[in-house]
Amino acid sequence: QLTFKRNYCKIISNNVNISSLVFDKFKFDVVVVGGGHAGSEAAAASARMGSSTALITHKWSTVGAMSCNPAFGGIGKGHLVREVDALDGLCARACDQSGVHYRVLNRKKGPAVWGPRAQIDRNLYRNFIQDELSKTPNLVCLEGSVEDLILEEYEKDFNDGDSVKCSGVVLANGQKIFSKTVVITTGTFLKGEILIGQEVWPAGRLNDDSSIGLADTFQRLGIRLGRLKTGTPPRLEKLSINFNKLLPSQPDNPPMPFSTMNERVWIEPDKQLKCYYTKTNEAIIDLINKNVHLNRMIDRGTTGPRYCPSIESKVLKFPHLSHQIWIEPEGLNSDLVYPQGLSCTMPRDVQHRIVQSIPGLEDAVIAVHGYGVEYDYVDARQLKKTLEMKCLPHLFLAGQVNGTTGYEEAAAQGLLAGINASLTSKYLHVQEEHRTSASQQPQRDKQHKRLQQQQQQHHQQEFVLGRYESYIGVMIDDLTTLGVSEPYRMLTSRAEFRIRLRQDNADLRLSGRGYEVGCVSEGRYKKFAKTRDALHEWIERTKEFIQPASVWRREMNLNQLMNNHIPKSAFSLLSGSLGLDTLLRFYPENFKDLPHDEHLLARVKVEALYDNATKDQLIEIERLKKDEGMKLPIGLDYHKLNISQEAKEKLSFVRPETIADASKIPGVTPAAVITLFRYVVKN
Ligand code: FAD
Repeated sequence: QLTFKRNYCKIISNNVNISSLVFDKFKFDVVVVGGGHAGSEAAAASARMGSSTALITHKWSTVGAMSCNPAFGGIGKGHLVREVDALDGLCARACDQSGVHYRVLNRKKGPAVWGPRAQIDRNLYRNFIQDELSKTPNLVCLEGSVEDLILEEYEKDFNDGDSVKCSGVVLANGQKIFSKTVVITTGTFLKGEILIGQEVWPAGRLNDDSSIGLADTFQRLGIRLGRLKTGTPPRLEKLSINFNKLLPSQPDNPPMPFSTMNERVWIEPDKQLKCYYTKTNEAIIDLINKNVHLNRMIDRGTTGPRYCPSIESKVLKFPHLSHQIWIEPEGLNSDLVYPQGLSCTMPRDVQHRIVQSIPGLEDAVIAVHGYGVEYDYVDARQLKKTLEMKCLPHLFLAGQVNGTTGYEEAAAQGLLAGINASLTSKYLHVQEEHRTSASQQPQRDKQHKRLQQQQQQHHQQEFVLGRYESYIGVMIDDLTTLGVSEPYRMLTSRAEFRIRLRQDNADLRLSGRGYEVGCVSEGRYKKFAKTRDALHEWIERTKEFIQPASVWRREMNLNQLMNNHIPKSAFSLLSGSLGLDTLLRFYPENFKDLPHDEHLLARVKVEALYDNATKDQLIEIERLKKDEGMKLPIGLDYHKLNISQEAKEKLSFVRPETIADASKIPGVTPAAVITLFRYVVKN
């Protein structure tokens, strides 16, 4: 395995012939294509796990770029960021160094559905990601365009003939880069086309080429593709905005960091920036109605993001409503602002008139026009839950290319794909060693046995997250079993175990698992374990502190226990209106030896709040786990089953991995699932 002597990132420009360089002869463990949010996390995770990794992307300067809104997190999305952080990913820490306006959304609801969100300084964010990647051992970053995949014949383990696997990539200059596994994270770039009004040209993003060769490769391989669209608003010059006419929105003070590794965020509360609110009026309806015939994007009818539609779609769909526009900072020192809610693909001159019809923006100057992008995506039902292609082993896909939208969704998938690509390459490595050693010294039984054990261990180490343990699991399960018909965005309503899957306990759910597979560093694990143990102690101690209701009532004047005579624990009282600060004021001696960090105390209160509900969910989760455990053979012939033609077709099309997945496919009835279950048990 290649270990780079120093922490470094080698960037090679497109026109350098890299065949003279050492990588040419070297077979990487993992090649990641694309340096967006998915690719950065995938490359970092795989390298963290010790796999020699190459990140190949069009331009180093766009690594970590935020294509659209300068914000991270929100409802559901914030949960993903916390989970990526719990697995030692980059984005949460990047946000804490670049967040300029923090707000926890949904605060009026229970903490289970709070949505941590922050406006981000684009440059600071990108710098952090580039810096972090360039310091990551085992990682090489190359500039280049991947145009094709290297396919290699191999013999399947189960002896039913040869098949092909992916074993590297081909760059635009014909250069081949070999690897055990490949992760594709090409975002909106596959046959991407930009649209503004009537203008259409090939591009993956403004000022970036689209990726044609790779899309052709997917088509040639029979991989099912679809087409989606998204859009972005014009960027406005800050000095041209009349802020006096807008309603300011203050950031939270103190801001709540995204990462559990951080006690505070980098930009001090008094330096955090405001956002501003305005809304559309009737003038915009007229402008859009009169000019909609000049909009190619609407004509084409491709599906766009439901939760982030363009202003023209909103006006056409809800003509009588006025629509919210948030004026958000693009960064601490940026001269631009981002009008969130004003995504627009109308002709440039119409964009001017639309913007200037909005209160406070009458004199606004557009620095960059809004645009839409249409692109190919891959039907994610062709992927396993590890994000590996079912029909093309060792090829993983993550991010917007799988039909999602958003940085957080991309980052979370990238992380998972990077982990699994690394695990697969380790498994292949052990297999290779095994073969070599078996051919050289068949008599060395001990070594042979050790390798077999390792092989077994690596084989078991697929990193799959269930719906019951993470939002990442919910998203990947949705994508791989249901697919998408519109850009998929994470929402808390998608998770059936919301009470358990909280943003505050992502580390408890995932850091231990991440540590087991090697993607969580020693330093993070130690910090996590300390918090976990302290939390546990607090919970135990408050559970053990039991007094008759009359004593609680008398000593603390607790009205909530007025007619109750049963002994109560402090923990159960914390699930009500009692706060830990009050408890500590009355009984400081009972808890004086425990850590009193305010973040920790807040977590004790939340644990108490959800204790009963979590117990109920755990029973359901156990049932689900049993289902999920029953694997279905990938090559199963569904036409042999005595089920409806529709069920046969749907099952053959999706090729679910488990009985639980099969039961989620629309058109597969419970009766068909039972027949399938019996068939698998019998055979
Ligand atoms: P990207 O961030 O797009 O990164 C892909 C990377 O792959 C790029 O660096 C590219 O250069 C590289 N690449 C592509 N092909 C190749 C190749 N063949 N060889 C080498 N490198 C390659 N999200 C929202 O949540 N809300 C929105 O409103 C929203 N609007 C958007 C509007 C626009 C115009 C765009 C472009 C995106 C928008 N997004 C929005 C989506 C958001 O930007 C993405 O979800 C997110 O960036 C996806 O991350 P990713 O890593 O999958 O891909």
